Amino acid sequence: MKTKIALAVLILTGGTLLGQKLNPPPMTELDLLITNARVIDGTGKPAFTAEIGIYGDQIIWVSEHITMKAKKTLDAAGRVVAPGFIDIHTHCDEGLDQKATHGNLNYLMQGTTSVVTGNCGDGTADIGAWTDKLSVLGIGTNALPLTGFGWLRQQVMGRDDRRPTTDEMKQMKDLLRKSLENGSWGLSTGLQYVPQKYADAEEIIELAKLLKESDGLYATHMRSEEDELLAATREAVRIAKEAGVRLNIAHLKANGRKNWPAMEELIGMVNKEIKNGMLITADMYPYDKSQTTPLVSVLLAPEALKLTSISEWQRALRDGVTRDAIRLITENGRVGGTNWVAKGGWNFFSIVNAPKHPEMVGKMIIDLAEKLDKSPFDVAADLVISEGDDLIISLSTMKEENLRFQMKQPWVMFSSDGYAVNPNDKGVHPRNYGSQARVIRKYVEEEKILTLEKAISKMTALPAAVLGLTDRGLIMSGFKADLVIFDPGKVRDPATYLDPHRFATGIDMVILNGVPVVVDGKFIGKYAGRVLKK
Ligand SMILES: [Zn+2]
Repeated sequence: MKTKIALAVLILTGGTLLGQKLNPPPMTELDLLITNARVIDGTGKPAFTAEIGIYGDQIIWVSEHITMKAKKTLDAAGRVVAPGFIDIHTHCDEGLDQKATHGNLNYLMQGTTSVVTGNCGDGTADIGAWTDKLSVLGIGTNALPLTGFGWLRQQVMGRDDRRPTTDEMKQMKDLLRKSLENGSWGLSTGLQYVPQKYADAEEIIELAKLLKESDGLYATHMRSEEDELLAATREAVRIAKEAGVRLNIAHLKANGRKNWPAMEELIGMVNKEIKNGMLITADMYPYDKSQTTPLVSVLLAPEALKLTSISEWQRALRDGVTRDAIRLITENGRVGGTNWVAKGGWNFFSIVNAPKHPEMVGKMIIDLAEKLDKSPFDVAADLVISEGDDLIISLSTMKEENLRFQMKQPWVMFSSDGYAVNPNDKGVHPRNYGSQARVIRKYVEEEKILTLEKAISKMTALPAAVLGLTDRGLIMSGFKADLVIFDPGKVRDPATYLDPHRFATGIDMVILNGVPVVVDGKFIGKYAGRVLKK
C-alpha cells in the first residue's frame, strides 16, 4: 500500500514525496560531511544548496548547516549531489558473479549504484543461491532481483509449446511464491522469447496474482515491439488489471519505421489507463538503435552455396543468378533461420558504419532504396559488395522524436537494458556504458528536453517507488547513503556502436552504502554493493 501511494504521488504530481522523521543513531561524530552541495534530491523539485551528513551507510542529516563534527569533509562546491542512479532494467544477473565483471563498472562509472536484474523473464527464482554466488567475490553495485517467468516455465515445463496442466501451474506458483518470500521484487516476462511466448495471457494473470500479497511488480518485455505493439500493450494492461498489480513496460519502443506512428497511440492508451487509476510505468534506454551486426549477416544464401568468407559472399552477390537466389531466400525466409528480413521487411535496419560511404551513416536501408531508386535488397547487396563486412547496421531502429516524446511522460523512467560487460565482449551496445550519462549529456544539457531535476527523478525516486524500495532513491535523512557527485556540464558518454568499451566520464564521486567507491572519477577497488531484497 505504501508503495502504491508513493508511486501514485510521484506519477500524478511529478515529485514531492512526504519527508520522514528519523531518530539518528547515537553518535558524536559523522563519518562524512558534504558541504556546498547543490542537492538534487530525486523528487523532481528544484535543486537547493545544503550540507549532507553521513554516518555508516546512512544519510543522517540534510540541512543548510550541520554543526556536528565529521571525520572527513568534502567540499562539493560547483557540483550536483544526487541519489545514486537506479537502473530498473538490466541483465546483470550473470556478470555479477564473474571475476572480470563483478565490479559492474560500466554502471558504477556513470553513477549507477543499483541495478534491477532478472528482466525479460531471465531471472532465477532461487534468490538464495544467487545471493550466495554473488557474495563470494562481492559486487560493485547493489542488485535487486526480479523472478523470471522464462526461468519458472522452463524449470517446470521445459520448452513445451502448450498450456500448463493444473499440477504444472501449481509448481510454477510454488516457485514464484517462494522466491517472493525470499526477497524478489516481482515477476518479469519476455513474451517474444521461447518458451515464454507459448504462454497466453490467462497463464500469466494466474501467476501475477501472487504478486498482490507481496506488493511485487509485474515487469514485461511485451509480446511485440513491432507490428503488434498496440495489441501487445493492451495485453500487458489487461494482465496487470486482472491480476490487480502494477505494471512496468520494459524498454518501451516502437521498432521499425512503419511502426513508429503507433507510439503516440500507445502513450495515449497508457495515459487514459493511468487517469482511470491504474499504476503503469515504463522504462526506456536513450538510444534510437539496438544491437549492431554486419549487414551481410541478415542476408540468407542457399545452403548449397556454402558461403562462409566475406569474399565468397561478394562473389555470389556479383553473379546475377546467385544474387537472385540470395534475394529470394533473404526476403522469404528459411525454416529455422533468424529471418530478419522475411520477418519485418527492410523496415528495421539503419547504417552504423560505412567507411566508403560516410554520407550513408545514420540512414535507413529503405530510405536509401527510395533515394537511389533501387530495391532495398539491391542497396544491401551493393553495399556488401563495396564495403564487405565493414558495413555495420543496427537491427532495430526507433524514431528520435518518439524517444523525446516518451521521456517527457511522467511515468517513463530511464534504463539501459544492459549487463555487466567484460571489456573483451564483442557486439556490445553503447547503452551498457552510457545510458545514464547520455541522458544528462544529451537530453538535459544539450537538447534541454528535461530539466536535470526531472531527469534525475526518472533515474532515482521513480524507479525506487515503482519497486517499492523505500530507503533509496532520495536524498533524505534516514535513506541509505548512495550518492553521486558531478558537474552536469562535464558528463560525457563516449561509448559508440563502433567503439563501445568506453566508460562514461565526468562523474567525480560515487558513494555506495556510505562507502566512497569512485573518487576523482576513478574506481578505487572497493566492492560495497549489496543484494537488496524486498
Ligand atoms: Zn527485453
